[in-house]
Amino acid sequence: MSANQSEYDYVVIGAGAAGSIVAGETAAAGYRVLLLEAGLEVSPDNNDVWDPTRWNEVLKDPAFEIGFESTKQAHLDNRILQLLQSKGLGGCQIHNAMVYVRGGRSTYDHWANELGCAGWSYQELVPFFQQIETTVGISPPPASAFGDALIAAFGRVGLPFNPGYNEGPTEYGSVPFQFTVDAEGPRRTTSYQKYIAARSLPTLTVQPGCFVRRLILGRGVPIVEYTNAEGEIVAVQPVGEVVLAAGAIASPAILLRSGVGNAQALEKLGIATQCDLPAVGQNFYDDLGVGVIVGPNNIPMDAQRYGYIGVGAFATASGEAPQPVPGYGEVNIEIQISTSSLPGALEPKPPFPPLSYVLIGSSSLHLKSRGTVTLATADPAAKPVVDPGWLSDPEDWNRVLAALGLVYRIASDTELAAAGGWHPLPFMPVNPKFPLFPIEIAEAWIRLTGLTVQHYVGSCAMGTDVKTSVVDPTTLSVHGVPGLRVIDASVAPTPVTGNTAGVSMLIGAKGASLLLGKGGKRG
Ligand SMILES: Cc1cc2nc3c(=O)[nH]c(=O)nc-3n(C[C@H](O)[C@H](O)[C@H](O)COP(=O)(O)OP(=O)(O)OC[C@H]3O[C@@H](n4cnc5c(N)ncnc54)[C@H](O)[C@@H]3O)c2cc1C
Repeated sequence: MSANQSEYDYVVIGAGAAGSIVAGETAAAGYRVLLLEAGLEVSPDNNDVWDPTRWNEVLKDPAFEIGFESTKQAHLDNRILQLLQSKGLGGCQIHNAMVYVRGGRSTYDHWANELGCAGWSYQELVPFFQQIETTVGISPPPASAFGDALIAAFGRVGLPFNPGYNEGPTEYGSVPFQFTVDAEGPRRTTSYQKYIAARSLPTLTVQPGCFVRRLILGRGVPIVEYTNAEGEIVAVQPVGEVVLAAGAIASPAILLRSGVGNAQALEKLGIATQCDLPAVGQNFYDDLGVGVIVGPNNIPMDAQRYGYIGVGAFATASGEAPQPVPGYGEVNIEIQISTSSLPGALEPKPPFPPLSYVLIGSSSLHLKSRGTVTLATADPAAKPVVDPGWLSDPEDWNRVLAALGLVYRIASDTELAAAGGWHPLPFMPVNPKFPLFPIEIAEAWIRLTGLTVQHYVGSCAMGTDVKTSVVDPTTLSVHGVPGLRVIDASVAPTPVTGNTAGVSMLIGAKGASLLLGKGGKRG
């Protein structure tokens, strides 16, 4: 195995939401960039990927799935949950639900003002969001009668209509979701498609089917050791830097395999410590989802065009309206609704009978529980051990119960039920007399059905304290490791208000500008 030392300025690992922007922008500036991606290219004819109505079908395709899973979750009936993570040119944007959420201005102001992340205030980030929105393409689905009925129902539970949840001062209220979809087609968009495939980038080399095993450190710029598409173990060493953009589960795992992490833990695995950085893999976070289904329905089959019905909501666990510009974490529930009208929608499992249904789902946002990404073995081929730690902080129980309560009120709304032609199902914990439903049943329902909403962040958090963070906010360089940056969802130091493709692309765009800031355009 020999390392090629001169061919590339940068090696970017992972062609997902963030890595595609880093590779595309640095190559557009004239740098010689190698983009290594574990998964394969997506054929332009693969309708399961590109047709937004076929979201359920692409989710089932093993060709695009890495297959991570959680450890047994003590507070969710000891269940092991699948942690979906797509692989391929496009990363999780190949199979995500396409909802586009910036993440809340208070989130970014919290990072800048309270967590010492200089340069990450919302106002400073707006130009990056605008660049992403123009480049990737954002569109609302067409209006529908069911969407209108939902807006009215959200109003009846106290959530005002808020058409500008991304650009406006608050996310709070019922919202017409924006989606990363080209309205023409319509066709799913990804940052890989728009920042790379749609451009002429002669200095970019894209190598799909390449699994990065580890980095070899201590010999100048990191050497990237990977298994190539032919199954050979090879290595490459750029002249500039290595950018890790493998996502919030794989990026910390690659760092740990490379000897960057808690020295004691690495020693136990027989991995030589290159940099004792205890925060690697700590602070892992995912929102928790819980919902109810109602049915049968007579919703027109064209009601759901994309991953979710086009109307959703952002709410507060307290039930109170937040300030006009909400404080950090104040808006902490997201409601997303889907129906069995989408091809390939999940069938309820026995003992539930097959039926058409509406799933009213909530994501509890800004929870306190934190988890970990660790290794069980030094073997680079082994999957990391992921413990999201859902509900490990007892305070989160009330928050998730409040989210279930809100879902339950919407499900019990008689006017909405009349509009959708549904009734609350007898086997669901829906009691029209909310909030007097028995708390034990609600808790048991959460333990039995609570699930990941795949909003993984935080495991390589940015910050200035080397004991509690992994990368420097002003560069996204790994503390104490020359020539190495992490630029993906893992560097978000806290959860954001909502889905995470937006913040991941933001980190990609801002990270690319930080990387280019050093040299600007290549001469
Ligand atoms: C089922 C699902 C639905 C979702 N729905 C939404 C939604 O509607 N809206 C939203 O905003 N967000 C959604 N998300 C989340 C969002 O897509 C992710 O937060 C975002 O894509 C993360 O971006 P990233 O760049 O950090 O990583 P990713 O986009 O996950 O990209 C990481 C890339 O690194 C590659 N990689 C990993 N390990 C290696 C290795 N060892 N060597 C080489 N390459 C490697 C992977 O194959 C992958 O392509 C969803 C996620 C899932 C799984």
